[in-house]
Amino acid sequence: MREKLLIKKARCLAQRYAVTDGKKFRLAEVDPGDTGEFTSKDKPAFKEMLAHGVMHLAALQERLYASDRWAVLLIFQAMDAAGKDSAIKHVMSGLNPQGCQVASFKAPSAEELDHDYLWRCQRHLPERGRIGIFNRSYYEETLVVRVHPELLEKEKLPARLVTKHIWRERFKDIRNFEKYLAHNGVVVRKFFLHISYEEQKRRFLERLERPEKNWKFSAADVAERRYWKAYMAAYEDMIRHTATKGAPWYVIPADNKWFTRLVVAAAVIDTLESLDLEYPKLSAEQLKELAAAKRQLLGE
Ligand code: ATP
Ligand code: MG
Repeated sequence: MREKLLIKKARCLAQRYAVTDGKKFRLAEVDPGDTGEFTSKDKPAFKEMLAHGVMHLAALQERLYASDRWAVLLIFQAMDAAGKDSAIKHVMSGLNPQGCQVASFKAPSAEELDHDYLWRCQRHLPERGRIGIFNRSYYEETLVVRVHPELLEKEKLPARLVTKHIWRERFKDIRNFEKYLAHNGVVVRKFFLHISYEEQKRRFLERLERPEKNWKFSAADVAERRYWKAYMAAYEDMIRHTATKGAPWYVIPADNKWFTRLVVAAAVIDTLESLDLEYPKLSAEQLKELAAAKRQLLGE
């Protein structure tokens, strides 16, 4: 009973951060330090909710796999150190690895640049019955590539196709692509983990100060902070143009990891619950076969 209540509470929390119609979205209205009505005193309760949530998620995943109809694609986007990796790790910790596929998208290779930008992502779309996770995605094509125009030049597009409309065109193509996925039973949910400029600095300093975190530090990430404003503008525009009812963005405050993880888990639970997943129903014929197999085994 208590478990059900906790999960219900968490799902309400997730719905609060869902953007299903981008038109009115303003990034400035989302405070990265927001923790709803909770404070750090609630951390232990959140841990408990997350543990229940992860167990519940595992049960839902099993039904997703058994029913073998829907696929779920979870896309994670964020500035560096916002906690993408750890959110993925915590939320997916209870899942069956056989039903899960993670793909990370870095700067494109020479081979990838020889194709349209969706090509490399399409190859990693989840199969039916699976949960696919994109750690960064085709959305980078409207973020890092927009902030650094020299990356667009490297994409080898015919010159006449590169106009001032290119970002609008990309948004439209992405909306259509996600619609196409929806029509094919691939449920797309997108997460923007929204960290503040100050918290990012704190986490970078921690990477420098703690030897076991040194490996995560990259000087290039610090240099990228100069473009913070441009990134925020690109993120806002991206969400305004690509948050739809069918493929919403969850804009999740990310200055407090305990909060972020729970909201992500709850959003994934909410998504799977909405699919009304059932174990496959066997036909009378199949049930007869099972009964015969049972008789045979018992008769051995
Ligand atoms: P972490 O730093 O936490 O290990 P990460 O996702 O930042 O994880 P990195 O290896 O640091 O991984 O970097 C991936 C880099 O690749 C990011 O800077 C991202 O902007 C860049 N990238 C991803 N997609 C594209 C793209 N289509 N074009 C250009 N750069 C891209
Ligand atoms: Mg990085």
